Amino acid sequence: MKLLEERIKRDGIVLDHDVLKVNSFLNHQIDPQLMLQIGDEFAAAFEEDQVTKIVTVESSGIAPALMAGLALNVPVVFARKHKSLTLVDHLYTADVYSYTKKVTNTISVDQKFLTASDRILIIDDFLANGQAVTGLLDIAKQVGCEVAGVGIVIEKTYQQGAQLIKDAGIKLVSLARIDSLADHQVHFAPED
Ligand code: 5GP
Repeated sequence: MKLLEERIKRDGIVLDHDVLKVNSFLNHQIDPQLMLQIGDEFAAAFEEDQVTKIVTVESSGIAPALMAGLALNVPVVFARKHKSLTLVDHLYTADVYSYTKKVTNTISVDQKFLTASDRILIIDDFLANGQAVTGLLDIAKQVGCEVAGVGIVIEKTYQQGAQLIKDAGIKLVSLARIDSLADHQVHFAPED
């Protein structure tokens, strides 16, 4: 997605340890116009896939997931990372190791929001080693629902997440694909 690549080039900051900081439009401050277009791109990519629900993880997946949900006209469920007084029983849970925070979170979804008849689209802000997506796939397995695909805003192609998803035979659509952050520069992958 050209607009997204331009924005990453303009505002992205490459930190040490292979982390791209995009907190001026995605991870802290959010650009609603850009999110709207991201939602439309996901909707166009998955419009034939009979998606009934979008599933993401709080907090950075919520903005793109919400916009995709708006464009596809389906509800959006976000897995929660923190325990809450209102989220105690009847949960689907999975452990997810966070690439950027170096901690393991147990993510949870209330069982009433996903059913075996759902066909879910998983959306997340970044795809690195695939831990977050794997956690959501684990939850989908517990639910017994189908996975229509995975939509990612920014994929780092040189980490193993994309391969994991493809090996599982799941459709993967990434709006920007970065094949290196060497020398603190963003290098985009050539189009497939
Ligand atoms: P994974 O679970 O695929 O290893 O990593 C995905 C999660 O880690 C994303 O939800 C995102 O929060 C975070 N993440 C991974 N790589 C980056 C990065 O380069 N920049 C930012 N801002 N977040 C990242």
